[in-house]
Amino acid sequence: MTNPSELARETLKTLAQRKLPPTPDNYAKIFSEISGESETENNGAEKVLRSMAEHLLLSDQSAAAGMALKKMLVEGKWDLCFKEIEKVLPKAGSADAAPQTWPVLIRDLVRQLDLPHKGLTVSRKKEGLETVFARFSSKPEILYEKLGNLIRSWSESPVTSNLVASTPFAPETDATPAATTAGITPVMSSPAKADDNAAEMLGKLAELLAQTLESTISAQPELTDEVRRLTAQVREIKSHNEVTELAKQLRHFWLKVELRGGDKTKIQEGLVRLLRLLVENVGEMVEDEEWLHGQINTLHEIISNPIDKHVIADAERSLREAIIKQGLLKKSLTDAKATLKSLMTTFIDRLGSITASTGDYHQKIEGYSQKIAQSNNLGELGNLLDDIMQDTRVIQTSALRSHEELLESRKQVESAEAKISKLEKELSEVSELVQLDQLTGALNRRGLDAAFDREAKRVDRSHAPLSLALLDIDNFKRLNDSMGHQVGDQALVHLCNVIKEALRPSDSVARYGGEEFVIVLPDVAADEAAGTVERLQRELTKHFFLHENERILVTFSAGVAQRGEEEPQEEVIARADKAMYQAKRTGKNRVVIAQ
Ligand code: GH3
Ligand code: MG
Ligand code: MG
Repeated sequence: MTNPSELARETLKTLAQRKLPPTPDNYAKIFSEISGESETENNGAEKVLRSMAEHLLLSDQSAAAGMALKKMLVEGKWDLCFKEIEKVLPKAGSADAAPQTWPVLIRDLVRQLDLPHKGLTVSRKKEGLETVFARFSSKPEILYEKLGNLIRSWSESPVTSNLVASTPFAPETDATPAATTAGITPVMSSPAKADDNAAEMLGKLAELLAQTLESTISAQPELTDEVRRLTAQVREIKSHNEVTELAKQLRHFWLKVELRGGDKTKIQEGLVRLLRLLVENVGEMVEDEEWLHGQINTLHEIISNPIDKHVIADAERSLREAIIKQGLLKKSLTDAKATLKSLMTTFIDRLGSITASTGDYHQKIEGYSQKIAQSNNLGELGNLLDDIMQDTRVIQTSALRSHEELLESRKQVESAEAKISKLEKELSEVSELVQLDQLTGALNRRGLDAAFDREAKRVDRSHAPLSLALLDIDNFKRLNDSMGHQVGDQALVHLCNVIKEALRPSDSVARYGGEEFVIVLPDVAADEAAGTVERLQRELTKHFFLHENERILVTFSAGVAQRGEEEPQEEVIARADKAMYQAKRTGKNRVVIAQ
């Protein structure tokens, strides 16, 4: 092994394997071991490094590093020299170089992570680490390099001294703030003390690594078991082999973390897309529901902006409120629906009983009843109500019309009844009073009855005779026919006047029928009565009925009957009528005395 770079790399590797701090002394010691050259203390190492710089200058890629190294050697900046070599070595070395130095890197990582660098918080460092892990964990060589770069970038920031003072690393960092280089621990004053420190440091680093691993549980709880297993392993680390084994497992773990992280991101993005679709869809469906717009808008806002956990919490709260309100509203709607249904049913029932007899309406109403029972939808109920109102308006109109007609008829009947009753009353009053025939002025039937009763009673007391004559105008039909009905009436009036003139005041004349008259003759027997009636006949021949200066002879036939004792009026008249009929049969214009 003559290549200075190979030699330098191998020296560093051995230093790490033996857990020796890579101080110039240690470096020189190990270097002489490997190269077979005698140990020449600092000079030996310096010589090696110088030859390494020269070697680096030969290659275009590493010329810059060679220059830097040379300059540092001249200035005696050992720590920076190692740093520069560290930059070059992984690239210059073989592929298995990286895994061999992982423990060193992890140790440095944990330490640098914990150091209070000015302007760098632990969480920011972790973020950097996560990014590197996420991007390069599948490629250990690159990961190694990137991690180294990251740690180096941290170490370039000054360390806050007052915090460091309490740590075991205080003396080193106090002396040279920039001395904390990747994989290289600054010079220790004594090798024995350095070994103790290294062991203590390893324990401390292991614990820090364990804690770092545990801190991932909160972000990925599903990996808890694996993390616990790894942390237990880290805390138990004793040998170099265990570290190598752990490094392998850690690589798997990082890979898994990265994959899970990727899955989570994809799941989250998928869920957001789904939610967006759902919200848009719901938004379109409930366009008319004013009360939902606020909720939809809130959700829209959340998913169109970068997700913020506070905004999500707020939205969840307001959505819960909306759900509660919606529940109340739904109940009110159900109640309203039930109320409307029962109201309509009652209405229909009543309507049904009102219109029970009106055939087709009844059938319609039955149909509505069934539809209401089946309906479970407010809109449908509304439409039904409209239909019912339309139909009932028809029923109502016709019912109202009938009712109005009935009312009107009843009013008319009532008024007619009132008029009738008034007329009847008047009529009855008038009838009782009036006993005279309107046309002739003779007594009417009522007058005759009254006169007969009065005279009958009187003669019954006095035992005087009472006679009755029934007169019937002869051929009166002919007169009516030839002269007109009105002339006939005038003839009746003329006859009545002549009779009244010729009779005694105690005698009464009554119009019994159309052209028939009854004369009541108190205190006279049948013969004398018949004599009186014959006198009337003669009087008529003296007093002609004149019509348009034409003399018209009016004659009559008569039957005379004397009332028997207690004989009722009808019987007396019947006998007189029979006698009068006889007069007609025997030539008219005659008087016959009844038997
Ligand atoms: P007869 O000699 O057999 O009685 O013959 P008549 O024409 O009188 O026959 P009858 O008694 O059968 O007819 C009576 C007629 O008297 C019939 C009717 O036209 C007439 N008459 C009855 N009452 C009235 C009345 O109040 N006014 C007028 N103008 N005519 C009357
Ligand atoms: Mg007659
Ligand atoms: Mg007659």
